[in-house]
Amino acid sequence: MGETIICSGCGVQIQTEDKEGLGYAPPSSLEREVIICQRCYRLKHYNEVQDVSLTDDDFLAILNTLSRKKALIVKIVDIFDFDGSWLPGIHRFVGDNDVLLVGNKVDLLPKSVKRNKVINWMQRASKENGLKPVDVMLMSAESGEAMMNVAQAIDEYRNGKDVYIVGCTNVGKSTFINGLLKELGAGDEALITTSNVPGTTLDMIDVPLDDGSSLFDTPGIINHHQMAHLVTKKELKIIAPKKEVKPTVFQLNEEQTLFFGGLSRLDFMSGSRQSFIVYMSNELHVHRTKLEKADELYEKHLGDMLTPPGDTKHFPDLQMKEWKIGKEKLDIVFSGLGWVTVSGEGSIVRTHAPKGVHVTIRPSIF
Ligand code: GDP
Repeated sequence: MGETIICSGCGVQIQTEDKEGLGYAPPSSLEREVIICQRCYRLKHYNEVQDVSLTDDDFLAILNTLSRKKALIVKIVDIFDFDGSWLPGIHRFVGDNDVLLVGNKVDLLPKSVKRNKVINWMQRASKENGLKPVDVMLMSAESGEAMMNVAQAIDEYRNGKDVYIVGCTNVGKSTFINGLLKELGAGDEALITTSNVPGTTLDMIDVPLDDGSSLFDTPGIINHHQMAHLVTKKELKIIAPKKEVKPTVFQLNEEQTLFFGGLSRLDFMSGSRQSFIVYMSNELHVHRTKLEKADELYEKHLGDMLTPPGDTKHFPDLQMKEWKIGKEKLDIVFSGLGWVTVSGEGSIVRTHAPKGVHVTIRPSIF
């Protein structure tokens, strides 16, 4: 090994092998006098934040430093993958700092969904996970909906303190920060000044704020139990909704099964005939069959008729959970895929999802 080269933008160790990895710089750039990693390069020249992957240990080390700071923590989650994009243990890492919880990708929700019900659910789910945010907000970093409201709330809640944006990969952290940079960069009243060079804090992008504080973008964190990590990049395009999700209604008799591609499954075990309303990516194929045939079908056709996944070799076994439906209409949430709205007091439903991928229930958000 030669000498260690450090990025003069963010202080990370430079490497030239892994393009997606932390500290990557093209070999040709090593000739230059001042060497910066590709992430800093893009931020500096194109005002664009790029994601890099870190190991779990790197990530934990970064999170561990948060409890010692005096800052506002902005935690971004993907509302289509709330459980998958939650950062376990976040309440311990943030110490006494306030947390503003932001649910991103609100543009994917059907218009009929009541936004305040989504916020109530996020509040409840946070509490169950041990976190009590100062506020819960929804936005779409992609369409820009409510993005400036979030920016304003950040400015209010931070009270002159630094801001740390945390979230796992794919929640839309880069889209949000890039959106902010574009939106606010030019104006005099700007919250964020874009002309500044990224700071020197190891592994974090430092965006200076106009009062001398900073907004830090922590690197994307990989949550291994996300559905997103069980499929290829191409398949992720199929399962992650791109536009407003259109509900599909299935009238089911008891002992019927729905397969969501080959990624998850729902069995209607017992109860009277009723509708199951599926809110998932419009491109994901839902296959209906009889319960008695379901196991055999899965064994024979996972990877072809039941796809994604295309590659079944490394795909984990599905784990079963049983749910009894009470008086209230419920959403059964398949983390990373979407949800199915069910009603019918006394009905029994079973869900099957890959080991580690959460299935949860919430009062229906309609
Ligand atoms: P990061 O890994 O957290 O930085 O996430 P990215 O910003 O790279 O976004 C991950 C994916 O989600 C990309 O395909 C984005 O286009 C998409 N995305 C980000 N924000 C939104 C949003 O508000 N709505 C929708 N529909 N997609 C979004």
